[in-house]
Amino acid sequence: MVEAERFRLDGGAMFGVVPRPLWQRSHPADERHRIQMVTRCLVARGEGRLVLLDTGMGDDWSDKERDMYAIEDGQRALHGVLAAHGIDSADVTDVILTHLHFDHVGGAVRSHGGRAVPAFPNAVYHVQQEQLDWASRPSEKDRRSYRAPTFEPLQRAGVIRPVSGRAELLPGITVEPTQGHTMGHQIVRIGSGEDAVIYCGDLIPTAAHVPTPWVMAYDLQPLRTMEEKRALMARAAAAGEILVLEHDPSCEAVRVAAERDGWVAAERVTLGPPS
Ligand SMILES: [Zn+2]
Repeated sequence: MVEAERFRLDGGAMFGVVPRPLWQRSHPADERHRIQMVTRCLVARGEGRLVLLDTGMGDDWSDKERDMYAIEDGQRALHGVLAAHGIDSADVTDVILTHLHFDHVGGAVRSHGGRAVPAFPNAVYHVQQEQLDWASRPSEKDRRSYRAPTFEPLQRAGVIRPVSGRAELLPGITVEPTQGHTMGHQIVRIGSGEDAVIYCGDLIPTAAHVPTPWVMAYDLQPLRTMEEKRALMARAAAAGEILVLEHDPSCEAVRVAAERDGWVAAERVTLGPPS
């Protein structure tokens, strides 16, 4: 697991209808009402493949935007972070994108000779077709979450391999669409049983979002998110699966347990840096 960068988003938008006194205990807001977030990307190796899950925000940000989102990217986005772990961008064979919001796909491209090109030159990029379609015509509600220069260069380069529905992309790595956050968002399951790791994307962005009604205001279909969380939690609690939290600044992953009429984060799990 690696952190591509730290940034901040509006706390109210991250917690939807949940009142601020409840969320600010675990996620204190700054003077601009923003809470600390991270972009946490997972690196998986095996059978000659080097697989990346999501790519963070990238480095194509103006000073004004860097201030607005309080972007801290000391190592110049994901490719810099990976290099610090001894991973060359050219060695990545597969990039699985949960969806195309800017804080998930931004690091998938980089500037080369004044032109945006795929940041992982030898990789194929796996995205749900439904998300590709939605990203090209987002609604007024969510269009600020998409930045065409972060995914159109991938389309132009012909490196996207669209996925439709549930699919085993590689041995032991399966994607499953969830629709509450945005159309064609996908979670990624690696392995099986107690060792299974579920990369939740924006279905469960932080440990505070484990309880069913704690749903982001960004979600297009919040009731659907709640249904999808119930199904995921029931399965994860029963099987002991590990849920990776992409945006939680202080908790990388959890195991969950049933409690009264819902679920709670029962055990913190650290997956550690890529080996
Ligand atoms: Zn998102």
